Amino acid sequence: MAEQTPYKGQVPGSIPGGPRGELGVGGLPLKEQLEQLIRLQDIDNRRGILRNEIDRSPERIEFARQGLVEKQKALARVHAEAETCNQQKREKERDLETCEERLSKTRSRQSDIKTNKEYQIHLQEIENLKTEKGRVEEELLVLMEQLEELKRKEADLAQDIKTTEESFELERQRLEKQSLAFSGELSAVEKEREMILPTVEPKLLKLYQQLKNLHRELAVVPIQHGTCGGCHMNIPPQMIAEVRSRLRILTCTQCQRIVYWPVMVEQAAAVRDAGSPQAPAASS
Ligand SMILES: [Zn+2]
Repeated sequence: MAEQTPYKGQVPGSIPGGPRGELGVGGLPLKEQLEQLIRLQDIDNRRGILRNEIDRSPERIEFARQGLVEKQKALARVHAEAETCNQQKREKERDLETCEERLSKTRSRQSDIKTNKEYQIHLQEIENLKTEKGRVEEELLVLMEQLEELKRKEADLAQDIKTTEESFELERQRLEKQSLAFSGELSAVEKEREMILPTVEPKLLKLYQQLKNLHRELAVVPIQHGTCGGCHMNIPPQMIAEVRSRLRILTCTQCQRIVYWPVMVEQAAAVRDAGSPQAPAASS
């Protein structure tokens, strides 16, 4: 390849399986290549966040639904409890009827009594039946109170569920709307990405992608206070001077990230923004 470009990029440091040496020729000047790479990195990071947000949306909706599901389960439990209690109450009512029938039958036999002893037994029998009836009545009262309490609980829960359903529905709509907005932003970001990709030198792009896979968020970092913006190791003054000279693209010898001198990018961005205003980012 002919070397007639504004830069002859050498990439020091070792990147496993990655390209070394020249970063190609032609295309945009180095300064702008770096600028494009930083934009690409911002776009890729935003793209990652948006994809993650979109992927997690159904899970978030399910999570929001959990509160409602738990309350519905609680209502089903209370309802079942009330059913059982009601059944016990009906049984107890039948017991009471039986007691009353036995009492009136026993009382009706009073005319058949002949002796005093028989009379004493008869009175005792009535007394026993009255005691039995009293006990059944007490038990019935307890069941009625329990049933009333359960019905109250059931009504409270049903009301609570209604409110929860309403707030869940609002939350679901909010999350779906948000996800839709993220999808819209994602397609705008994808379009912008497709426009940037061809403007970056293929070798530089390949290096960037390898670094991105290795370091996730940061593949291109500014030099900050004489250190690498990625791993924070000191960068030798000679290398800083080379980075500032804009003649080569250099990578950190520790973490292999592509480093840049922040001021030059800021200046380039200022010039670009003054010349052609950037399209506003996609909004929801
Ligand atoms: Zn580093």
